[in-house]
Amino acid sequence: MADHSSVLSVSIVTPDGRVYEHEATFLVVVTKLGQLGILPNHVPVITSLEVDEVRVQHDGEEDRIAVNGGFLEFSNNTATIVADSAERQDDIDVARAESARERAQASIKKAQAAHDSDTLARAEVALRRAVNRINVAKH
Ligand code: ATP
Repeated sequence: MADHSSVLSVSIVTPDGRVYEHEATFLVVVTKLGQLGILPNHVPVITSLEVDEVRVQHDGEEDRIAVNGGFLEFSNNTATIVADSAERQDDIDVARAESARERAQASIKKAQAAHDSDTLARAEVALRRAVNRINVAKH
């Protein structure tokens, strides 16, 4: 049985390396089944994540990270999020995300007109990534 603790440690890793690491008093993620809040000493969890924001509370502050899906594993007061890409709020290039959003919207229109379901599905995911980055950056 793990020791009782007042904090948990959060780390977010991508193929580019570790994007985020911090001790936290509360962690909030968005799973495929909805929002999940994790306090220290939570039972072990493994779950898939949506393209959405991750919120990490510590020292009276809240860090926000845009996470591109992936999964969360929590055990022994350590939360590890593994995703294809993730950006801390301050690292998000809003102009880049806005142009990605425009490209994705144009691609969705074209794919709908051409009844191209593969391109449509890819463009919808790209749109979700771009909108998530914009939302996290502008919060
Ligand atoms: P784009 O079309 O602008 O490349 P994308 O959604 O296709 O966006 P990804 O494939 O998810 O980009 O990410 C590629 C790399 O670029 C990752 O390291 C990701 O963190 C980074 N990245 C993507 N968009 C942004 C952004 N708006 N601000 C900062 N980093 C970004």
